[in-house]
Amino acid sequence: MPIAIALAGNPNSGKTTMFNDLTGSTEYVGNWSGVTVEKKEGRYRADKDVVIQDLPGIYSLSPYTPEEMVARKCLLEDRPNAIVNIVDGSNLERNLYLTTQLIELGIPVVMALNRIDVVRKSGDEIDFKKLGDAFGCDVVETSALTGEGSKEVIERAIERARSHEPVGHSHHFSGMLEHAIAHIEEIIADKVEPESLRFFAIKAFERDGKIEMKLSGAERDKLEAAIKECEQELDDDSESIVINERYAYISRVIDVCLKKKEKEKFKITDQIDRIVTNRWLALPIFAVVIMAIYLISVTLVGAVVTAYIHDVVIGGWIVRPLGGWLAGIGVAEWLAGLIVDGIVGGVGAVISFVPQILVLFFLLAILEECGYMARVAFVMDRPLRRLGLSGCSFVPMLMGFGCSVPAIMSTRALSDERDRKLTILLIPFMSCSAKLPIYAMLCAAFFPRRAAFVMMALYLLGMLVGLCFGLIFKATLFRGGSVPFVLEMPNYRFPSMRSTFMLMWHKTKDFIQKAFTLIFFASLIIWFLQTFDARINVVDEVSQSMLAQIGTRITHIFRPLGFHDWRPVTALIGGFTAKEAVVSSLAVLTKTNGAALTEILPTLFTPASAFAYLVFTLLYTPCIAAVAAVKREMGAPIALAIVLFQLAVAWLTAFACYTIWNALI
Ligand code: GDP
Ligand code: MG
Repeated sequence: MPIAIALAGNPNSGKTTMFNDLTGSTEYVGNWSGVTVEKKEGRYRADKDVVIQDLPGIYSLSPYTPEEMVARKCLLEDRPNAIVNIVDGSNLERNLYLTTQLIELGIPVVMALNRIDVVRKSGDEIDFKKLGDAFGCDVVETSALTGEGSKEVIERAIERARSHEPVGHSHHFSGMLEHAIAHIEEIIADKVEPESLRFFAIKAFERDGKIEMKLSGAERDKLEAAIKECEQELDDDSESIVINERYAYISRVIDVCLKKKEKEKFKITDQIDRIVTNRWLALPIFAVVIMAIYLISVTLVGAVVTAYIHDVVIGGWIVRPLGGWLAGIGVAEWLAGLIVDGIVGGVGAVISFVPQILVLFFLLAILEECGYMARVAFVMDRPLRRLGLSGCSFVPMLMGFGCSVPAIMSTRALSDERDRKLTILLIPFMSCSAKLPIYAMLCAAFFPRRAAFVMMALYLLGMLVGLCFGLIFKATLFRGGSVPFVLEMPNYRFPSMRSTFMLMWHKTKDFIQKAFTLIFFASLIIWFLQTFDARINVVDEVSQSMLAQIGTRITHIFRPLGFHDWRPVTALIGGFTAKEAVVSSLAVLTKTNGAALTEILPTLFTPASAFAYLVFTLLYTPCIAAVAAVKREMGAPIALAIVLFQLAVAWLTAFACYTIWNALI
């Protein structure tokens, strides 16, 4: 009877390298995750009775990703005679998470402490004997790259597979959880093989839906009662409880087994983390940090510099001299209008917001670079989990505050389809930076002292509305649990200026590029439509133009929101090309001639309708580029549905805000 030995471990831990070394095959070895998706089998070179299986790389034994499904099936259903758990020693904490689960399977495990060459070079020391004691398994130091230890690991595994010794486990969780597990083990004892009882008990505790146990109604109730009791006691959902307990155990093991060389740095990181990822403090701290960033970029830098650029630089240095010069050389009035009002006016209105966008992106890049954002993602895991999402979704959503298009594309990195689709639907509710000029413009005119506050309120409102729909979607279209979230926490470090500037520039570049392409053309079209009538005659009065004719009709729909003038309503249509176009269109439509928009706006809005306008722009249809991105990911019907749905949501929410504002103030 040949025996089967499975190589299991995180992606990129060195499984395939060792597999090739042991079997003499030449499977593809790549320095990225996800290279091995299918199980591969080969005979051990020195003993042809031993079949070695190379499993896909996984972080846990949950049934969410295709890799996990394959690996889980191999381990649970085909049950190899032993497992070699390949652990990347230079990344111990993350790798041991899977180890805690493998040990519970009740199959003999031998740990290959791999990349030992890297560990030694770094000066870290791992006490592999204590590590073995902690998990109740043999540990062998290996370097798959040089072949060191490979033979010993496999020989140990073969020995364990043939010995039929009972398999124990040494890691224990807190009293509450162990109590619940013991209860569940009693309930399911006759449903599963005795050696994997613990594994199934824990899976049942996590409410893992993919595991079928033929429980009667009464047993099911007893099971649920045991879970509920523990959940109430520890005030968390059962899946998170187990995740936390696993990490708590691992961090205790690491304290004992791992001597980091740069102990000092590590301590500082730990101390900061104790505060910023604290259960109660984390979210308030995050709110304060974000508030500070908006105060600096919008109130401090934005209000001053934007006004200066718009009024002095563009108005004084470009528009007036250019207008005078064009008149001087006898250019037709309509052509001068095209250049001054259409192009310079429209593009200029958007460009004047570049400084605040620059500062905003700079500060956000610093947060990302120094390692804080990774913590925020970790902290957000808990609230997102309630939504049926996981911390993985946080990164795309965070990107959504910059621009929805790359954010939607980045969801491809999410392995779970359900997670991915739900995240895509929620991204448009994260207010993108293209809307910032609209907020800044209206806030400067109507709420100059409370600009940062109003903006925060808008961002929050967007998230809140997104949250409501998330909950609705979760209860209807996207039932089911979420993928557990494993994210490496980098040490805090001083942001490298080079990469900070790169990050900042990368994002700002898009903004500027858009101003000279999309906004440029949108301004031209708006100018054209408002200068000519349907017979392409130059109109004397703007109100006779093609655009006014169309705009006035649409305005009726928006009267309940307090938008009575056709120009802001028409600008909303412009905003469909790109959100900044709302600003440029308004600039073109009101022909500011270098005069501040802030002076004209009060004739178009009251504070209440200005706020309603802000809310509407916050929530209404994503821009064309974002809709196209949704269409690519989820198909045309969904993309169209999102457009209509968000228009309706925006109208209703803006109407509610307008009504409430007028009733209260
Ligand atoms: P898998 O995803 O677990 O199958 O990992 P691979 O076997 O494809 O290896 C991933 C990368 O890690 C490759 O670039 C290997 O050369 C490298 N690697 C694997 N084991 C070791 C090791 O022990 N030491 C070092 N330095 N590199 C290793
Ligand atoms: Mg591989």
